[in-house]
Amino acid sequence: RAKNSGKGRVAVFDRSMHADVVARMEMENQFRRALDAEAFDLKYQPIVSIKNACVQGMEVLMRWKNEHGQWVSPGDFIPMAEEIGLIDRVGEWVLEHSMTMFAEMMARLPSDACKGLYMGVNTSRRQLSNPHFMQRLENIFAKTGFERSRLRLEINESYDPRHGDQALHTMLELHEAGVGLQIDDFGKRQTSLSCFKDYPIEAVKIDRNFIASIATDHSHAVITQAIVQLAHHLSAEIVAEGVESKAQLDLLRSWGCDSAQGYYFSQPLTGERMFQLLADPMQCDGIRQLRQKTHTP
Ligand code: C2E
Ligand code: MG
Ligand code: MG
Ligand code: MG
Repeated sequence: RAKNSGKGRVAVFDRSMHADVVARMEMENQFRRALDAEAFDLKYQPIVSIKNACVQGMEVLMRWKNEHGQWVSPGDFIPMAEEIGLIDRVGEWVLEHSMTMFAEMMARLPSDACKGLYMGVNTSRRQLSNPHFMQRLENIFAKTGFERSRLRLEINESYDPRHGDQALHTMLELHEAGVGLQIDDFGKRQTSLSCFKDYPIEAVKIDRNFIASIATDHSHAVITQAIVQLAHHLSAEIVAEGVESKAQLDLLRSWGCDSAQGYYFSQPLTGERMFQLLADPMQCDGIRQLRQKTHTP
């Protein structure tokens, strides 16, 4: 009997494995077709300075709706694109389209709304490991007229500069070329900021899972304060991601955190809505409230 149920389990396991493989292949095929058809969207989420309540930048976030009309999370399709060797093409598509949109927006905005404004683009370490990355980026700058000093590539914390010579080489080239680099999702893994001390990092973004509990978990509050101080010692700016409440924002502000991104200010927006927000930041409740605070002595 034991043998039979054992066999049965194996058969069930095989069937569900098979279903997983088929579903995965189907997702890969749909993704390839979407890439050929350029059937993706981009959203832009504002990053607000906690110091002066201005929109300081925006992060580009990719969106994909599959052929069944369901949104697939980039947390699922980005790792897949890396595995099946499509991340370079996907990354170039995102860079070219977001830079085109940004350059158009700049042209339509009064210059004081654009002062220091930057765009953060998520970049996988596999892209940096491609020796042609820099040249392709140069081509996109030339094609779109995007000002390179406004670009900040967000590199996942899992990227450790001590590994991967080509990626490190690319990072130094980017820095030489005047492109900013920032560490994304800091605090998600057990990485130490000292790993990055010899690398040209513009900013560190604290992971949103961490920010989620700073108002309720004392140890997370203490660690976040320490990260802010350490980043400042390394002359890096500090950005909190996933800020959803006033309590979180008030704490971050009291600790000297530079800027914040999250639903408290805004969801990721279409390019047009992002433009409207830049043209009139006071339409955003979070910015309006922060301005009252920063302008009251
Ligand atoms: P990320 O770079 O850490 O992006 C921030 C994520 O937090 C986004 O999820 C955003 O929608 C979400 N978020 C922003 N504010 C809040 C908030 O207040 N609360 C909560 N709960 N979430 C918030 P999204 O868009 O699902 O993206 C997930 C991840 O996928 C990104 O994490 C990034 O690592 C990756 N990704 C997205 N677009 C691209 C891309 O174009 N290229 C690459 N390589 N990766 C991308
Ligand atoms: Mg990011
Ligand atoms: Mg992040
Ligand atoms: Mg994150």
